[in-house]
Amino acid sequence: SREWHLVARPHGWPTPADFALRETAVTEPAEGRVLVRNLHFSVDPYMRGRMNDVKSYVPPFKLDHPMDGGAVGEVVASNAEGFAVGDHVLHGLGWREYADVPAQHATKVDPDLAPLSTYLGVLGMTGLTAYAGLFEVASFKEGDAVFVSGAAGAVGSQVGQMAKLKGASRVIGSAGSDEKVKLLVEEYGFDAAFNYKNGPVRDQLREAAPDGIDVYFDNVGGDHLEAAISSLNVHGRATICGMIAQYNDTEPVPGPRNMAMIIGKRLRLQGILVGDHYDLQPRFVQEVGGWLRSGDLKYGETFVEGIENGADAFLGLLRGENTGKMIVSVTG
Ligand code: NDP
Repeated sequence: SREWHLVARPHGWPTPADFALRETAVTEPAEGRVLVRNLHFSVDPYMRGRMNDVKSYVPPFKLDHPMDGGAVGEVVASNAEGFAVGDHVLHGLGWREYADVPAQHATKVDPDLAPLSTYLGVLGMTGLTAYAGLFEVASFKEGDAVFVSGAAGAVGSQVGQMAKLKGASRVIGSAGSDEKVKLLVEEYGFDAAFNYKNGPVRDQLREAAPDGIDVYFDNVGGDHLEAAISSLNVHGRATICGMIAQYNDTEPVPGPRNMAMIIGKRLRLQGILVGDHYDLQPRFVQEVGGWLRSGDLKYGETFVEGIENGADAFLGLLRGENTGKMIVSVTG
């Protein structure tokens, strides 16, 4: 079985040399464990943080050990009650072909209800992040004008559509290519979108939201956050979900220059960790499942085929090569 190891800690942008695909033996599962043949695994922006040797909300990857993260696969051997060969499970030991998973960390999923890959995206971690970040953290309400950055990505594409479905007065998105911008407006029903590479975010946001915004969902940080603070209306709220523009920085960068506006406008900026919101899971699955069945909610997936391309998939994610959820399909 092959698995991806982190072999060097990246300084700045990671490179292929920081990763190695290594062989390991597959053993029968011990008591209370299941052996899973992974079919898809997730590569996510937060994994960049885990490549640094710093204390954070998730422990860093260990050098010369397999990396981990969300995965779905098929049980091929079981030594745990309640799990049988042929069951499909969601678990946390991605980045490898075969995973030896403690049964209490495996959740059965049904491939007949939804494609397996969606349990990593629209029905999984990134979908719940969008749902909780918009409805709980940003206290979204009908009539709000919403701006989301990283809008063509896994989280962002769901935030914009969910806001629209719940009665947003206007939804604006930013993304890194003209093609993505077109998708947001023509397929996902955004009222306006812009390519942040085509000009200053502040000017493009002003133009797209002449009456300002009430909610900002931040996936990017930097100039996006500064522009949003300028465009937020009185009592506006921002969910600080990610700051991908700075994950590869080697020095801390200064924050927005217009923070003083937070006072006069009585803004609320609040961080989110999706891990705090699993209590919403039943409501989330029911509501989002309904929207998916009715066709009201769309989602994208970018599949990279073959475990040997796992590290490249992660590097591609950081460069914006994905539309919707970036997924590695293990068997190719
Ligand atoms: P995405 O599917 O959005 O993929 C990442 C995207 O980021 C790329 O496709 C790229 O799109 C964009 N990007 C890369 N560099 C930059 C840059 N310098 N400026 C602007 N955009 C950039 O990933 P996710 O949906 O999984 O995650 C989105 C954000 O949410 C991330 O910041 C992530 O860390 C965060 N997150 C936080 C969680 C939490 O609990 N707090 C949980 C899950 C995600 P483009 O072509 O548009 O540049």
